[in-house]
Amino acid sequence: MSDDSREKSTPSFSALKPRTRLNRAGLSTRVDGGRAVNPPLVRASTILFDDLAQLADVRRRRGDERLLSYGARGNPTAYALEDVISELEGGYRTRLLPTGLAAITQTLVACLRPGDHVLVSDAVYEPVRHFARQFFERFAIDYSFFAADGQGVEALLRPQTRLIYAESPGSLAYEIADLPALARLAHARGILLAADNTWGAGYLYQPLALGADIVVSAPTKYLSGHSDVVMGAVTTTRDAWEPINRSLDAHGMTVSPDDAWLILRGSRTLAARLPLHAAGALRVAQWLQRQAAVARVFHPALPDDAGHALWRRDFSGSNGLLSFALKDPAESAAARLVDALRLFGIGASWGGFESLSMLADMRQARTVADWSRHPHLIRLHIGLEDPDDLIADLEQAMGGQGTEDRGQKTVQ
Ligand SMILES: *Cc1c(COP(=O)(O)O)cnc(C)c1O
Repeated sequence: MSDDSREKSTPSFSALKPRTRLNRAGLSTRVDGGRAVNPPLVRASTILFDDLAQLADVRRRRGDERLLSYGARGNPTAYALEDVISELEGGYRTRLLPTGLAAITQTLVACLRPGDHVLVSDAVYEPVRHFARQFFERFAIDYSFFAADGQGVEALLRPQTRLIYAESPGSLAYEIADLPALARLAHARGILLAADNTWGAGYLYQPLALGADIVVSAPTKYLSGHSDVVMGAVTTTRDAWEPINRSLDAHGMTVSPDDAWLILRGSRTLAARLPLHAAGALRVAQWLQRQAAVARVFHPALPDDAGHALWRRDFSGSNGLLSFALKDPAESAAARLVDALRLFGIGASWGGFESLSMLADMRQARTVADWSRHPHLIRLHIGLEDPDDLIADLEQAMGGQGTEDRGQKTVQ
């Protein structure tokens, strides 16, 4: 907020013509009295300065400091959300982007240059593979995928390796990588370590504390929690901040204050929502493990999950995601089950209050690991409904009775 004593003096209102008074009345002013709990939603393109000296001063300092200077370089509502995410991730500062995918791709653009080599987790959010094919190849950046559990990374390192890009738990099958071990390998060689923390939502997992330099995430998911907004975030250590911040400024990356406001609102109940998602998902996962038609259930909180020991070591909890494979490996069997569900919507994304189902083709989603035994996974997001109702729905869908009214379905 500007200091009143420095505000540009304006002629008295009564001296102005009606058109000018209409133009100037009700602009941003300080309100006397108490204050609201939440930060205001501030919509702004133009930011006003008291004089040219102040404008010049802000422009000189805004590359390093977070100063309000122009709507395309951020707004106070977004700053408030940046602070929430920096606090959650334990980072130096945060920048917001229009989508989670943009947070990932803009981080890669900021960190890499022609001739560099980057190692990407085989468990990466699938659209990152499409970006790698399009962007890395066009800009002469070499890339290879490493095993989702992080094994064998040392043998893949090259003198040109600039960045290791991790995602743990992995998308769709929740493989866990030993992030501290990856950090040791990277830092011994001056390589940057970036991690996608969308699964952990900044609350269940702290990649920066475990050695990552950069954390990217999609607040679209749990931080929002309401399936009504998309956003990305990148949070870094002090050392990794400058080049990413500069690159994002150069690309004109910011978010609308309305979207930031929605995510701020969602963030206030994250701690209340996550345990309900987690308890529901664990119950559904354990129930699925007992079903004759189910071959395997993927969820790191299950004691027999491949990543369970590392999950217990590095995470403070789990969330509403789980996947499973049927004994019948045909895509049609999995598709029949998903189509027969009545309480689970069919749709991409997750982290909202409602339950969702999706089919995943793991032969496309992984290139290092061989998924020919379980090529088709059913991915569920367990929402805040009563798990008894969700289990009853899965039971009827598995019984092949999915011919009744299915109600509303979410379609991407
Ligand atoms: C959804 C997701 C993203 C992308 O977020 P959008 O806001 O949908 O672009 C990135 N990483 C992971 C792990 C995700 O699940």
